[in-house]
Amino acid sequence: MKSITTITTKETDSTNSADHRDTSTRQDLSRRKFLGYSTSAVAGAMIGSLLGASRAGITDKEQSPVRGSRETLLSRDDTIKITLGVVAVYATGIDSKSYGNGDDGSNRRHWGEENIQLAVDDAIKQIENTLGGNYKLSTRYREVVDDPDGSDTDADGRQFPMYTKAAFERHVDSTREWIRSRDDYDPDSHIVPLILFDSDKSELGKEAVGLAYMDPSKPRIHFSTRGTPFGSGITHEMGHLLNPDGGRFGEGMAHEGVFTAQLTDENGNLTQVGAVDTIQVLVEQGCKLDSNPYASIHTVMGSGLMNNSGKDINGVEIPTGQKPIYSPAEMLFLQPWRQTGDIAPGKYQLSYEEDKVFGLVSDLPPDHILRTAIPNADRLFIGMNVAQSTDKPPTSPETEKFVGVYVISNDGRSTFEIRTTIFGTSTQPEGKEEVVYADEQLGILVASGCGGRGEYYARVLDLSTDEAQLMLDKSRQQTAERSQLIASKHTDNNQPTKN
Ligand SMILES: [Zn+2]
Repeated sequence: MKSITTITTKETDSTNSADHRDTSTRQDLSRRKFLGYSTSAVAGAMIGSLLGASRAGITDKEQSPVRGSRETLLSRDDTIKITLGVVAVYATGIDSKSYGNGDDGSNRRHWGEENIQLAVDDAIKQIENTLGGNYKLSTRYREVVDDPDGSDTDADGRQFPMYTKAAFERHVDSTREWIRSRDDYDPDSHIVPLILFDSDKSELGKEAVGLAYMDPSKPRIHFSTRGTPFGSGITHEMGHLLNPDGGRFGEGMAHEGVFTAQLTDENGNLTQVGAVDTIQVLVEQGCKLDSNPYASIHTVMGSGLMNNSGKDINGVEIPTGQKPIYSPAEMLFLQPWRQTGDIAPGKYQLSYEEDKVFGLVSDLPPDHILRTAIPNADRLFIGMNVAQSTDKPPTSPETEKFVGVYVISNDGRSTFEIRTTIFGTSTQPEGKEEVVYADEQLGILVASGCGGRGEYYARVLDLSTDEAQLMLDKSRQQTAERSQLIASKHTDNNQPTKN
């Protein structure tokens, strides 16, 4: 195993990264070029990034008792400070200023310095856009020349050099020491080494694009530079570490899945795409958690990909999106100071504004059916999903919102969207309401509404009232009509092709 041979002196702090850029003599790299090839690679990268960390997430989650009061963990003005020790590692003989190596045997790096910094800066910006000052990230960047300490063989039996897991751990430890030794080290800040092997393959890169180690004594991230620098990968891995309890930083969020009303027949044909009925009926029917644990589109902890900034293929600057990167249920975990009310009959104008009611929460009774349908289900949460990508903040009346229903685990780290609407997530015209959830055990029906400019609201009705029963019946009828359409489509498809 070769030791680190060179440590260059490039170090930046995110707080003055703009200055750093201006004084840099690096070649001006075209983000357009990268965006061009990155778009299709993003989805693959995301799925890949989820594999390794998910196992840790599920194990940790089950071992996490409820600790402290969730209402008082982190106040609105508190800040959890994080120092990201971003370290790019490449082998001897690699051109330090290069990027774009596609395994062609050249001496180029994969991402290169500028892309790494763009990706990290973008992730930080997006986390802070979503969570304000509660989580303050700064970066210390350095480059290390270190040759691969192992090797692997490709499909044709050819050997190639590879960085091992041991090399990753070694760089994690030296990064932590390096941060601690700096004059600007803040002992109140959580150190997160983010290691990127930027010239040769990495053993951990075979497991997943991104790996977050949910280890409060040593939270750390491995991120592969073999895919695109643009995407939600780094914000996803950071989400695995964020915890509003400073003492538990490193034990962050799990993935966000979806309870879906989608059903298939024995041949795998869709028989129901979306449905409105009581959750009790839907579970009886066989509706369950989507087999994709990343099914939620409302968060980077699911399959949400959002806010990519940069330039489009015509070179036009894309403004950084303002859509929250974490779902409202996850935001409640990360910002436990958010105001909530009980889920009880009434009309609620739920809001992302700090001094307004953010959501409604109720404990699920011990015998509630969602406790059997969803692991560790503990509470039901109603908040506002932001409907689509937007360059306006979620507090803006122009930002379209829709009521989201979630189940939250006892420790708050696992969240699941309950997608029991006819068309999945949607928005509705002004003055109209759409039923999004009904529950016989809680005796409620929940509708999503828009009363006018920016007046997005949740209305909770007592399920036993005539109004609620009428709304439910109407939605059931729409569900049946839609399912009938889907079934007839299968029948058509089963006809022999004429001509
Ligand atoms: Zn993950």
